[in-house]
Amino acid sequence: MAKNIQAIRGMNDYLPADTIVWQRIESTLKRILTNYGISEIRTPIVEHTPLFQRAIGEVTDVVEKEMYSFQDRGDESLTLRPEGTAGCVRAGIERGLLYNQEQRLWYIGPMFRYERPQKGRYRQFHQLGAEIFGLSGPDIDAELIMMTARWWRELGIAEHVTLELNSIGSLQARANYREALVAFLEQHKEKLDEDCKRRMYTNPLRVLDSKDHGVQTLLNDAPELFDYLDEESKIHFDGLCAILDAAGIKYRINQRLVRGLDYYNRTVFEWVTTALGAQGTVCAGGRYDGLVEQLGGHNTPAVGFAMGLERMVLLVQEVNPDFVKETAVTDIYLASFGDGSQVAAMLLAEQIRDSLPGVRIMTNYGGGNFKKQLGRADKNGARIALILGEDEIANGTVTVKELATGEQQTLAQSGLSARLSELLG
Ligand code: ATP
Ligand code: MG
Repeated sequence: MAKNIQAIRGMNDYLPADTIVWQRIESTLKRILTNYGISEIRTPIVEHTPLFQRAIGEVTDVVEKEMYSFQDRGDESLTLRPEGTAGCVRAGIERGLLYNQEQRLWYIGPMFRYERPQKGRYRQFHQLGAEIFGLSGPDIDAELIMMTARWWRELGIAEHVTLELNSIGSLQARANYREALVAFLEQHKEKLDEDCKRRMYTNPLRVLDSKDHGVQTLLNDAPELFDYLDEESKIHFDGLCAILDAAGIKYRINQRLVRGLDYYNRTVFEWVTTALGAQGTVCAGGRYDGLVEQLGGHNTPAVGFAMGLERMVLLVQEVNPDFVKETAVTDIYLASFGDGSQVAAMLLAEQIRDSLPGVRIMTNYGGGNFKKQLGRADKNGARIALILGEDEIANGTVTVKELATGEQQTLAQSGLSARLSELLG
């Protein structure tokens, strides 16, 4: 027998038992996005490789070692998108959405990174993100954070996530700080691990979020980014904190929060949890005022974030399983017995779908005795079985059985929808 071909490591299949959970969570998230006047944008999953190199930065984990890049048949270098912002900005520039305009956009979809697969970290994963263009004040930064806080409340996980906040200032402020930081790190080279020694010259700010304990201790004596912030970035950050305070959103200022992608400036934030082990960041973002221009557009302020859906699903399942416990795929199961009953059942099901559009109804196929058909009703989570036998067909009636109690009643088909709406509420 031929060897079975398996899925690619780190790329998951989502089966019906999973997708029902995902849909539940996604529909809550999407409803809230529309509550804030944010519209969906869909961009391709593949883009020209230089887009990501330019947007994300050459000296980042993503571009250095995580991208799925390949030559296509026309010998162009293409990349499966590792994140959503670059494509969104590319589309915004190319389709004329950004110049002198305000845009409030969200996207959802698969992203690809060649990482070591583990719980909460995959090679194909999914992000839901928002990107707001054309607004430069701290008020919109605050509103995005307030919206994510509303997400957590509605998903019932608010008690299990905390907000980390920082400002990384302007490009100039960061350049000044970078110099001071490198000078400090050079004096303490022997205390740096290999990763940090390499990063020290290529992307020294990333040393700040090193996971190495020794490095973190050393950093207690390092110059602080805050002392190098430009005046406008300070005012922006104070403005943001004031709004979050007014809205009752708690945060922790984490001066070592710098984010892994190059394009950020001023506001950066992460929502983190301790409930998922090492993969603790569920949502991350910030301001990226320079990116549109860097990719060839006009100078356009922008702010956004991305949420990892796998981690969000894991978190909801972990801390609020009630939210996703509903696994029924139908409300009503239509059983039928005897000659001619199959087609009659199909037509009755169509009538019910016409009169009660919100109701889920499954028709039995492949025959089976009473016990077997009722077993299928149960397996699919139905609350009601409708029974159509020869007697019912002859009399124009149908038997309605409530599966929780076993109670049943035969009634005229003409009165069926009224009875069903009553039973299903
Ligand atoms: P991490 O530090 O965990 O690698 P990151 O800084 O690379 O995260 P971002 O690029 O900011 O992550 O992406 C935003 C969010 O997307 C993350 O907070 C996380 O929830 C999710 N995410 C990122 N990479 C993965 C992955 N490989 N698998 C699953 N989710 C991911
Ligand atoms: Mg990463």
